[in-house]
Amino acid sequence: MTASLFAFDNSYVRELPGCWSAVSPARVPAPRLLYLNHALARELGASLPAADDALAALFSGNAVPAGAEPIAQVYAGHQFGHFSPQLGDGRALLLGEVIDTQGRRRDIAFKGSGRTPYSRNGDGKAAVGPMLREVLIGEALHALGIPATRALAVVATGERVYREDVLPGAVLTRVAVSHLRVGTFEYFAARGDQDRVRQLADHAIARHYSELQDDSDRYAGLLRAVAARQARLVAQWMGAGFIHGVMNTDNMAISGESIDFGPCAFLEHYDPRTVFSSIDRQGRYCYGNQPAMAQWNLARFAESLLPLLDRDEAQAIRVATEVIHAFPDLYRGAWLVVQRAKLGLARSDATLDAADTALAEDWLALLNANHADYTLSFRELAAAAEGNDLPLLERIADGDALKAWLARWRVRCAQEEGVADRAVALRLANPRIIARNHRVEEALAAASDRGDLAPFESLLAALREPFSDEPRFAPYAGPAPAELTAGYRTFCGT
Ligand code: AMP
Ligand code: MG
Repeated sequence: MTASLFAFDNSYVRELPGCWSAVSPARVPAPRLLYLNHALARELGASLPAADDALAALFSGNAVPAGAEPIAQVYAGHQFGHFSPQLGDGRALLLGEVIDTQGRRRDIAFKGSGRTPYSRNGDGKAAVGPMLREVLIGEALHALGIPATRALAVVATGERVYREDVLPGAVLTRVAVSHLRVGTFEYFAARGDQDRVRQLADHAIARHYSELQDDSDRYAGLLRAVAARQARLVAQWMGAGFIHGVMNTDNMAISGESIDFGPCAFLEHYDPRTVFSSIDRQGRYCYGNQPAMAQWNLARFAESLLPLLDRDEAQAIRVATEVIHAFPDLYRGAWLVVQRAKLGLARSDATLDAADTALAEDWLALLNANHADYTLSFRELAAAAEGNDLPLLERIADGDALKAWLARWRVRCAQEEGVADRAVALRLANPRIIARNHRVEEALAAASDRGDLAPFESLLAALREPFSDEPRFAPYAGPAPAELTAGYRTFCGT
């Protein structure tokens, strides 16, 4: 059975032979639709069947839509610093690409759709809980204005998946501007296949950095452009208190979208050493290390591009090194843009950079020393801007230090002209609602253990309005119990 779901146009298959294997999704016994993002489907120009069983057949892979050319993409990757020369889509498939209603090319991919040539010892399957987590986090990031892959659908397969526990199986349909990873380049670079590295780079430029297409120095341009997008992305993660959890090079997208945020979570109280991922025992990917890890990954990307940067190896290394060494400043610039917005500061003259950086860092140090909730402390700056310091005085134990900092902040705010309503701006820059650990767990447990999707749906509704003060979202605004956060562990879902 086929159905005309999308107007597919599969450039990866067409342009990059040798970078993928054709694979069909595995049949599943009893597909049942758990989630469908209708707004996203419209954005993609999809013509969806009306009946639930037809939707479940499509989004489980049982009915491959006309024009789809399912493939598994090959890639390598540095995982926790160690190179794995052979990874690839072990439990994922690229179904095809569509041009969305805004003219953007988007990948439509399955996750959990069965074994592929790259599955190694894995079963190629995914479970309901982790796939619904991907829905929640993708939508939360998107609502916060942070580029992220998004879930179009989740289908329960009716299969059991064997992990530490026996879990209900699921297939996720993921939408991404592409699935090109740093690891995709590393795979071919490690094999000395410079032609493929060049083809991939040209494909990436055409797709994500088309302004570079006619540039004689376009591969160095690509490296710089990817660095700039990563700087901005990670600065946004840091601003939102987001911890990706597994920033391996195969989980870093060339496009600058957040991708493969498996064991991810948001900060509760502010502490840069926070790590929730069960597999990150050394804290390599803790909150505060994320900018350094992005730089580390970019160095691996630069190494893969070396032969394209210059025919003379020493010169190529100089070009790459310059970009990698420039990253911390690039990142700090992006970080300051985010932090100024979070502090309600509109002026961004370079003469203010040093003082504003110190103001932001001292605020974060205050939150850290007082174990203060990251999200709500920023949110309550809006009340302070209206002259009400009480919420912050109740939240931050060291009242004298808080008052001293607020006094400095007010002096800085007074230098601004044209901020008509700083409190409004602050409430648009600082969310009230993030994906709190206890709420995420509660929603996933209800769905996975009892088939009850109501908590998932209510949480999702709240995450879609992170800046709203609506009373009905109050249950999602409060911090997780400290005991839960102290022992909280997230899993890759593999
Ligand atoms: P991840 O940690 O999800 O980014 O995955 C790392 C690598 O392991 C990728 O190549 C995945 O495709 C592969 N992988 C993860 N889970 C499975 C699974 N259940 N079956 C096969 N391959 C998997
Ligand atoms: Mg991955």
